[in-house]
Parts: sequence; C-alpha cells; structure tokens
Amino acid sequence: MAQLGGQGQQILILPEGTDRFMGRDAQRLNILAGKILAETIRTTLGPKGMDKMLVDSLGDIVVTNDGVTILREMDIAHPAAKMLVEVAKTQEDEVGDGTTTAVIIAGELLKKAEDLLEMDIHPTIIAMGYRTAAMKAQELLEGISLEASDKDTLMKVAMTAMTGKGSEKAKESLAQLVVEAVMQVEEDGEIDKDNINIQRIQGATADESKIVNGIVVDKSRADNAMPKKIENAKIALLKYPIEVKDLETDAKIKLTDPSQMQAFLDNEEQMIKDMVQKIIDSGANVLFCQKGIDDLALHHLSRAGILAVKRAKKSDMTRLEKATGAQLVTNIEDLTAEDLGEAGQVYEKKIFDDVLIFVEECKDPKAISIILRGSTRHVAEEIERALEDAIGVVAATLEDKKVVIGGGAPEIELSKGLRNFADSISGREQLAVAAFAEALEIVPKTLAENAGLDSIDALVDLRSAHETSVYMGLDVFLGEVTDMKESGVVEPQRVKKQAIQSAAEAAEMILRIDDMIAASGAFEGGSDDMDMGGMGGMPGGMPPMM
Ligand code: ADP
Ligand code: MG
Repeated sequence: MAQLGGQGQQILILPEGTDRFMGRDAQRLNILAGKILAETIRTTLGPKGMDKMLVDSLGDIVVTNDGVTILREMDIAHPAAKMLVEVAKTQEDEVGDGTTTAVIIAGELLKKAEDLLEMDIHPTIIAMGYRTAAMKAQELLEGISLEASDKDTLMKVAMTAMTGKGSEKAKESLAQLVVEAVMQVEEDGEIDKDNINIQRIQGATADESKIVNGIVVDKSRADNAMPKKIENAKIALLKYPIEVKDLETDAKIKLTDPSQMQAFLDNEEQMIKDMVQKIIDSGANVLFCQKGIDDLALHHLSRAGILAVKRAKKSDMTRLEKATGAQLVTNIEDLTAEDLGEAGQVYEKKIFDDVLIFVEECKDPKAISIILRGSTRHVAEEIERALEDAIGVVAATLEDKKVVIGGGAPEIELSKGLRNFADSISGREQLAVAAFAEALEIVPKTLAENAGLDSIDALVDLRSAHETSVYMGLDVFLGEVTDMKESGVVEPQRVKKQAIQSAAEAAEMILRIDDMIAASGAFEGGSDDMDMGGMGGMPGGMPPMM
C-alpha cells in the first residue's frame, strides 16, 4: 500500500495477469482492501493515538496523526481502498475533523459485512440494512445532541480537536486564537474557512502564536526606498499591471530615425507616470498589485511615499478586500478614493527567516491571519493541521449550534439504540442493522486499545454505564469510564453525522460491486500517474491492488 522509497513494498492483493473478478471474489477483495486501509490508520485515533511517518520517494517526510493527511500521502491504487480515501476527503471538506473516525467505521462496516456474507446473506440485503441503520442512527444522534454555541463550548470543541496532536502543549492558547478567529470572520451565521489564513513561521514555540487583527501577506515591499510603515493606511487593491508591455516580445515597431525612438520612450515613461499619478490621486498610501510593477513606476511610487507590493497572490487580494473593505480594481482608470480600504497600520516586518507585510488594526475585518509558530518545520506543519481541524470544528459548531459529547459516548449510545431498533425489524435485514450497531463500537474500542487499555473491559463498562447516562465515555487520560460532559470532551454534531453517513455510503457502494473488470489500457502503468482523488479504475491486468 504505502510505497516507501517508491518501489517494491506494495501489498499484492490480486494475482498478476488477472483481469476480472466476479461475485464473492470481487467482494472479498474489495472488503479486504478497505479493511487493510482502515487498520492502517486505526492506531492514530484519539488523544493517545500514535503518529505515522510518511516517506516519499525523494525521502521527504511528513510526521502526522491526521487521518486524511496519511491517506492523501499514501500511494493507494486499489479502487475500493480509494473509496475510503474519498470518505476521508469528504469528511475533511464538510467538517475538517473526524477523518479517522469516518474511515475506521467504514472499515468495520465492511468487516461485519464479510461475516454476514459468510452466512449467505445477500449483499443487497446487507446494503439495505446498512442504509436503514444509518438513517436511524442520524435520528438517534439528534436525540443525544446538545444545543450550544457559546464561547465556553467553542473552547471545549477546539481543545477536544487538538488534544493529543502536535499542538498539545499550547492547546489552550491556540484554542483561544481559533475561537476568536472564527467568531471574527463569521458573517450571517456562516463561516468561510478561507477567510482565516494561517501563516506558518518556525523558530519559536506554538504558544507564541498570535492572531493579527487583519491580514499578513507573505511578501516584502516592492522597493527598498518605500516606507516600511504607514499609519492610517488607505489601501488600493489593483489587478492591473503598472508597466508598459514588453516590446521585445509583444510587438514590433518600425522606427525610421532616432528621434522617433526617443519619442517612443518618452511616451512610455509618460504612460507609467500617468498610472502612478492615478494611484496618488486616489489618495492611496498603500498599494497591493496582483500584477507586476515597472521599475520606473516603483521609483515614482517610492517618491510619493507609497508602500507597494507587487505580484500579490489572488487569495491574499480576496482576503485583503474582506479585511480592509477595499474594492479590487481591475482597470487603473477606474481607481477612485471610494475603492480604498483602511487599516490602522501597514508595515513590513521580518520574523525568523520571513519578511512579511502586516495589514493590522482593521475595523471589524471579515478575514484575518493567524501567525503560527513552531520550533521546526515538521512541528509547525503538524500544529497547522491540528489548528485547521480546530477551525473546522469551531466553525461547524457556530454554524449548526449543535454538539455531542465525545470519548466514544455517542457511538455506544447509538449502538445501543440501533440494537433495540434491530429487534423491531423482521427478516434478514435485522442482522445487518445489528451488525451496523456493533460496528459503531469500533470507535470506543479503538480509543481504549490506543490508550493501552483492555478494550473488552472498556466496552463492557461503557455499555453498563449507558444504562444510566448517555454521556458516559472513555477518558483515555484517566483510563476509565466517566462522564465525558464533565471532562469537557465536546465535538460538533456534524462530525458524527457526516462520519456515519459517508462511512455507510461507502460500505454500501463497495458491497454492491460484484464484478471488477480491468478497464482497457487507460490505467496501464499502475498507480503512479493516478490521481488519488479520482476513482479511476483498475490498473491494467490488475496486478498490485494497493
Ligand atoms: P479523527 O480524525 O476522527 O478526528 P482523532 O484522532 O482526532 O480522530 O480522535 C477523535 C476521537 O477522540 C473522538 O472520538 C473524540 O471523542 C476522542 N477524544 C478526544 N479527546 C478525548 C479524551 N480526552 N478522552 C477520550 N476520547 C477523546
Ligand atoms: Mg480529530
């Protein structure tokens, strides 16, 4: 599966030279692939989960505990395994957390399905049972959710998402930054995560991270003669080149005598000067230009005391609009004072190895930056992933205003509810619903295993504790079953909702496949050129499947 060093370590699932599998063989192989994948990331679940070190063919490494990152970096070719990768990606897009949970539930659903297939239960019946169970699970989930989106809850949600990740040590201060950031960019009850920009800078510890009441742009001044700092900034955002097109490549002009050449150059100079004058006239003292700026223009801008940045990124321009209230202007002729944005100060500052432009003290900015510090690149990157998870869960909580209590509590409660529900169903579908109920227990079971606890004891304790309270879960730090509401382990409802739904859908889809045919030619050459995201098909001749 994961190919270390780009060679030789694939797990061979299908024999070489085979190009078709039907019926049970196809199912068995697909289930196996899904199970292996889930098993691989299972050890990372929960605060006591382990990390994975991923090594690519160039020897670059990523050390992470983040399910979707592991799956993204792994070299996966098996079609069924890829469907589980899709589950993780959907989870990441929809919620930003719960990726490991989603995949291990899917893996467990497949495992239980295998047992049912052994009992000669038709895959269609299993798929139907799973669908019924998933729907019932959503209904049960509503019943155990709490309505909350206050600051205290948001803090708990953020901290739960960061527990056990690289950010552990600075968890509280980082959670504070995340909550503040998400609340700041909220607009009409919705949060666009793109409006929170994380600027990762190594060379200090995570608790030295801070929020900028505005935007940090990873650029320096376009010219050293420009002011380093502007107070009461009036900011122009321009998507228009302040240069005259390069004549050598773009046009041919026929000059018949030297005076024409001079006239031409004068004209060019004048055009540049006019453009700069447009900017000065607008009243701007800061300029972010998405395109290039001519040297001569830089000179004039410097003389006018304007701090300018050239070739700014599109995403930064969008955030600058949101933060400063400026209007992006696409034709310099249209630039007026109305288009300018405002910030208390704009300045250039060097932190560690990076020179950055700070656009700070914005009035009610709807886009902001977080300066994230980490001692080394790998540390900073892993903290960034944890921070992104935290942003995801805080945003989901603020949008939905619904949370559940974690630590395996919801899974046990849903499992219990589904078991009761199964009894009301007649026929063989009942067995599939019961299998679904059992499959959900993989979450607390794994939390226990990863914490070095006996998983059977833990499940038994949890089940009996749920006779009295729905919030009883496994506190992996105490190593015992306790009220997780008291422990402050809180997650957005959306994490569980999405995890259960996409896990069930993927399992169902995999179960319905009874024929795998190597598609002609298109996948010759195996996995290397295959985009992980696409479902693709099977490698020609179907040799190594993972
Ligand atoms: P995922 O990628 O699914 O989010 P995580 O590694 O973040 O995986 O683990 C999430 C699980 O850990 C959730 O079930 C959550 O309830 C649980 N969890 C978080 N904090 C605690 C805790 N202190 N004790 C027990 N379980 C916890
Ligand atoms: Mg998580």
